[in-house]
Amino acid sequence: MCSRMHITVLLFLCIALIIISVVCTYLYCQQDNTLFYKMFREKPSPKIKIGFSIATLQEERWMRDRDFFVARAVELGAEVLVQSANGDENLQNSQAENLITHKVDVLVVIPQNGEAAAPIVDAAHKEGIKVIAYDRLIKNCDLDYYISFDNVRVGEIQAEAIVKQYPKGNYVLIGGSPTDNNAKLVRQGQMNILQPYIDRGDIKIVADQWADGWKPEVALKHVENALTANNNDVVAVVTSNDGCAGAAVQALAEQKLAGRVGVSGQDADLAACQRIVEGTQTVTVYKPIEAIATKAAEMAVALAKGESISDANQKTNNGKIDVPSVLLTPVAVDASNMYDVIIKDGWHKLEDVYKNVPKDKWPAEN
Ligand code: BGC
Repeated sequence: MCSRMHITVLLFLCIALIIISVVCTYLYCQQDNTLFYKMFREKPSPKIKIGFSIATLQEERWMRDRDFFVARAVELGAEVLVQSANGDENLQNSQAENLITHKVDVLVVIPQNGEAAAPIVDAAHKEGIKVIAYDRLIKNCDLDYYISFDNVRVGEIQAEAIVKQYPKGNYVLIGGSPTDNNAKLVRQGQMNILQPYIDRGDIKIVADQWADGWKPEVALKHVENALTANNNDVVAVVTSNDGCAGAAVQALAEQKLAGRVGVSGQDADLAACQRIVEGTQTVTVYKPIEAIATKAAEMAVALAKGESISDANQKTNNGKIDVPSVLLTPVAVDASNMYDVIIKDGWHKLEDVYKNVPKDKWPAEN
């Protein structure tokens, strides 16, 4: 049994121990101010919250955009609220309003419709939230920043590869979604290359259509109709992304023309890379997604901390203002550089891209 004396001594020892540890911590923290500050003074700073509003996850690339973006933002100590609108511009606007209500510090938007997304920017600004347009421009508003690839160059790369192999004949043009500014820039790039050939009479545009919502099923119908209307007398189908390129190859295959007609795309989707090494698609355009997503996350975190972004030194006019922009460089990919660009960069695995090609035709790994 403990005597009253024992209890008093024990109590005294406990109090002494507490005093000693507080004094020690204080002395230690004198050498490391930040620790003392953190332990005793600083209220835990609230986590940076980034809203990421994605138009669609339909194409293979967008999931990778999301994953790289979130990974980098989390690494930088932020949390990301992601919403995907499934290709519905009205849904996207209400999802963005929701992110604003959740008091995100910064909003990053991949717009489904570059015009219809302008109210998102206005609503965000009313709450003091800055907006970055990701990959696709938001038109006619006071957008804060824009990050994308050089989309005119994307179109030039596509047309350059096609005219190199098919310098004369009937061409079909299939643009992307008419509400996506990128689709127009890509077309501008294609025409930069094609126009001199058209003017010389070497190339004739026999069909010129746009695929609403970048939908492959819409592109398929357009290509089927163009082939029928021209009795299959077509040497190239200039499609603007890999989803639509897949549809073009399907329409050509129905006429036993796959592999004999030029087809272009962009995104380096796995299926497109396979078609390229199998000979049914001429070219795709690789846009390093890790680079854009990582940079966008870094920009968003910097803005949330109230820092400015010094390297957004390009300008893109959105119809209202010149938006400070970061525009990355796209890369042409055909069968000759598939290994060096796509495999070596880790975008796809060798065995996946070449899975339908006899093994003795695979490139040597180096
Ligand atoms: C992007 C392309 C994509 C297309 C369809 C464009 O804005 O730049 O990479 O294939 O949208 O989602």
